[in-house]
Amino acid sequence: MRPDDIRQHNLSLLLGHVHRDGALTRAELTQRLHLSRSTVGALVNDLAQLGLVEEMVPSGGARVGRPSHVVAPHAAGPYAVGVDVDIAHVTVAAITLGGTIAAREVIPTDHVVEPDGLVRLVLDALPGLCAAGASSGRMCGVGVSVPGTVDITTGRIGVAPNLGWEDVPLGRMLQDALPPEVPAVVGNDADLSLLAEHQRGNARDCDDVVFLIGRIGVGAGIIINGVPVRGRDGHAGEIGHNVLDPSGPLCHCGQHGCIETFLGESALLELAGRRGPRTDANVADLFVDARHGDPAALAAVRPAAETLGRTIANLLNTLNPERVILGGSMGEVLELARPEVEEAVARYTFGDAGPGVALALPAFGPDSALVGAGEVAFTALLADPH
Ligand SMILES: [Zn+2]
Repeated sequence: MRPDDIRQHNLSLLLGHVHRDGALTRAELTQRLHLSRSTVGALVNDLAQLGLVEEMVPSGGARVGRPSHVVAPHAAGPYAVGVDVDIAHVTVAAITLGGTIAAREVIPTDHVVEPDGLVRLVLDALPGLCAAGASSGRMCGVGVSVPGTVDITTGRIGVAPNLGWEDVPLGRMLQDALPPEVPAVVGNDADLSLLAEHQRGNARDCDDVVFLIGRIGVGAGIIINGVPVRGRDGHAGEIGHNVLDPSGPLCHCGQHGCIETFLGESALLELAGRRGPRTDANVADLFVDARHGDPAALAAVRPAAETLGRTIANLLNTLNPERVILGGSMGEVLELARPEVEEAVARYTFGDAGPGVALALPAFGPDSALVGAGEVAFTALLADPH
């Protein structure tokens, strides 16, 4: 590598550590990067000049000898915009270096949003986000989480069934609407949720992990040997349309008895005998009522727990992860019926794939996909801090 390339590589590494782990001392950075103190000092100065990090003396503690400076993400540094597209609402947030959500706007979309409507909605939200506390920094990227299959190199959506989207060049549409220096990145919601948890949440220490997300649909994000698994077309993890029972209910995909027809939010509402439409409020009410012991709500959760356990067992048999993180309505089912879920996992898992596998909730709760969208929006800046 040429000296310039080495320097860019080291700047990128150092900024990555501070972005993921927050304030670190120069000594810690020296140890992590296996570089000399003077090299780390020069890199920190470069990043400070670029307005990306700042050095401070921590308050408190003993005042003997030279105080150890800590290097932290710059409070007025650049920010990324994360966008989480769900069925009934779109969340747009400004996320700072270091991963803090500085400002957010939740925009109801009255059922589904069209692709060009989504692009307009994101552009319209940007000035408000900046004013609402996204710091004085510049916007360094926009990341969008979509409940569908995504070619991450082009940002093209293959199919997002619950949005009714097919073959949508969303990445290009967004990029055309943004300044060229602000990259647009698109990802699948389960993949981005897992990315957030793996980078800075409940899968940090774990290189074989699955994130099972339950919203109107059901999907999985997969990391095996530390590497995201997406497959040829970005289809990997679309387990919501694995057929559990060919004589089961008709799915919108045309098959009968897909996992989604038993575990999707519409299915849960139906199991509880709720006749209203699938809205965020109706789904939230179902789980609140179940927590308060409402018999009909609990009667929906129990069969869902069994199906969820069987679905997790299929994932364990196929992928052999050490942890499964359950987001959205799948996390709610786990919290309400963990013994039933674990019992079904144990019953349907083969051999050694089951014992010792932790079923966990996401550190970011309902925000995992949003944080993950912010994370991919920082990719270009982190790769080349100049
Ligand atoms: Zn289906």
